[in-house]
Formats: sequence, structure tokens, C-alpha cells
Amino acid sequence: MTMTLEPKTDQKRIVVADELGYCWGVRRALDIIQESAQQAGPIAPVGDIIHNPQVVERLRVKGVVGAESVDAAAREGFKRVAITAHGQGPHLAEQATAANLELVDTTCPLVTKVQRLAQKLVRQGYFLVVYGDSYHPEVKGVLGWASTTKSVSAKKIEDLPWNARRGQEGPGKITPPRKVALVSQTTKNVDELMKFARQLQDMVVPEGGEFRLCNTICEPTSERQNALKRLVEQDHCDVIFAIGGKKSSNTARLAEVGQIMGVESHHIERAEDILPEWLADRQTVGITAGASTPDDVIEDVVNYLTGFGFTPPEGGIRKVDPDYVPAY
Ligand code: SF4
Repeated sequence: MTMTLEPKTDQKRIVVADELGYCWGVRRALDIIQESAQQAGPIAPVGDIIHNPQVVERLRVKGVVGAESVDAAAREGFKRVAITAHGQGPHLAEQATAANLELVDTTCPLVTKVQRLAQKLVRQGYFLVVYGDSYHPEVKGVLGWASTTKSVSAKKIEDLPWNARRGQEGPGKITPPRKVALVSQTTKNVDELMKFARQLQDMVVPEGGEFRLCNTICEPTSERQNALKRLVEQDHCDVIFAIGGKKSSNTARLAEVGQIMGVESHHIERAEDILPEWLADRQTVGITAGASTPDDVIEDVVNYLTGFGFTPPEGGIRKVDPDYVPAY
């Protein structure tokens, strides 16, 4: 990749990606659930409402308290449960009905799109591969909606149930079926998805196989990754901090993007995670943040860095367009 780097100045500075922090889907989910708690009393999202411990704590004070399961919420006396922005399989609504609990659904519409697509692909006879983390609620939810044994989640080619290209024969060779479709967890890195897709396609297309790739990485995730790439290309960053909860998949991807571009990058949850040696002899610190990171956590990091002599970004951390709706 050709990069145009700005000459270094003597001033130590902080530069921020022009897209970072809360995404549209997380903002929407938080608005729905907070409004719901305010109007109708305590509510239990099943699992973390978002992967950010600071926000989870603030919501708790407002009557939004995560529960491990519908049963756990019922045992703790909640009358209402919620599906988080990551979505859930169809079992959750059934469990809520059985437990006589009201259900509030805050699934991000971009995740709902993937769930519906998974169902459609399965109906069309494809074996479904979901590129993503098998433990992640979004991936589990998509597989739940696909509702078939002809589906699997995978993050690398070795995770697949096949080890040979179609047409290859011999002891121990397991080949894919004729029709395979690939969708992605919405928060994955597009470059990594494409690498995986090319390997899978190579296995499926011989002998008349049909491979279908659906890039379901959401627009806000792609924007955050592209904004970070622009930041690295335009401003000379000596180190990058990707701010977000340790369980936040999209924050981990951002740190990965920085690293792949050759800049030392750290996934941090809060300012206190920054080790002094990461700032030694550094001129320009680049900041990005995952889709579930609130603005005040980003601002805390910026303030912390100013204590080390770094100049904060002109114009604050970002512009918010209240009318923005992603393409889907
Ligand atoms: S990261 Fe994308 S899919 Fe996930 S909540 Fe945000 S907008 Fe929706």
C-alpha cells in the first residue's frame, strides 16, 4: 500500500479517526431500552446489552440489569426481558412467552438482515457458513435463525468440517457439499473475510460446486475500519489506541487493522490501561473506538493523554449526524 505521510512536527499530538465510537445500532438499542425502563420500570436484557462495562454499570442505575437467561430474569423478579443489539435466536421469544415475561427487542436491524438472509440461503439449499466468533451472541443468533444442521460458524479454514477441495478423493478427505453460502458477523474485518472467502471458494467451486459470498459486515463497522486506515495514511501515528470493552469484537478488529498497517496498536478499555512505555518517545497518538464505546470514555483517554503533553484534537472527538441511517 502506498502511504503519504505528513512530516513530523515537534508538537506531541492526538489525532482521532473521523468515524469512531457508538454506532447507529448501539445508539438505537440504548435509546429503546432506556426509554422502556423509564416508562415501564426495570427490564433485564439477556446477556450484556453492549460490550462495554462502563455503560452496563450506568444502565444498572437506571433499572436496566443484565440477566444470564430468561429463567434467571424471572427468578430475580423481572417482568420484562430484552434482546440486545446483537440479536438472539428465536428460542428467546419462546422462552419469554413461556415465562410470561414481556419482550422488548432491540436487535440492530442490520443484524436482523443477516438472520433473515441466513434463513433464505438455507431455504435455497445452501450449506451456511457464518464467518465469526462461535461464542458471540450474534453468531449464535444467526445460526439459531438458520435452524439447520447444515450450518457452521468458522473463523479460519481449519474450523470447517471439510479438509479437501470438491473432487478430491482418498482416505481422510472430507469435501464440501455442492452449494455453500458464506455470511459474516457484522463486526468483522473485510480484508480477513475476503481472505477466508477465497480459501472457501477454492474448496467449493471444483466439480460444479456453487459458492455464494454475502458480505454482511455492516456499514458502520466498515466505516470505522476505513476511517482508521485514512488516519494512518494521512497522519503519522506512532501508536494507536483502540478503545472498547475487552469483549468487543469490533474494537479488537480495529486494533488488528492498525497492527496490519504497521503501527503499534493496543486494544484498551479505559485510560488506566495505557502503560507509560507505550507513550515514551511518541509524537503522534492515534485514537479510534469500537461501536459500543461511549464518548465520555473516549474523552477520558484524550484527557489522560494531554497529561503526558499531547495536544488534544482540534474540534473535539467527533461530529454526530442525528439523521444518519446506515445503508442496509
Ligand atoms: S456494529 Fe453494526 S450491526 Fe452491530 S449494532 Fe452497530 S450498526 Fe448494528
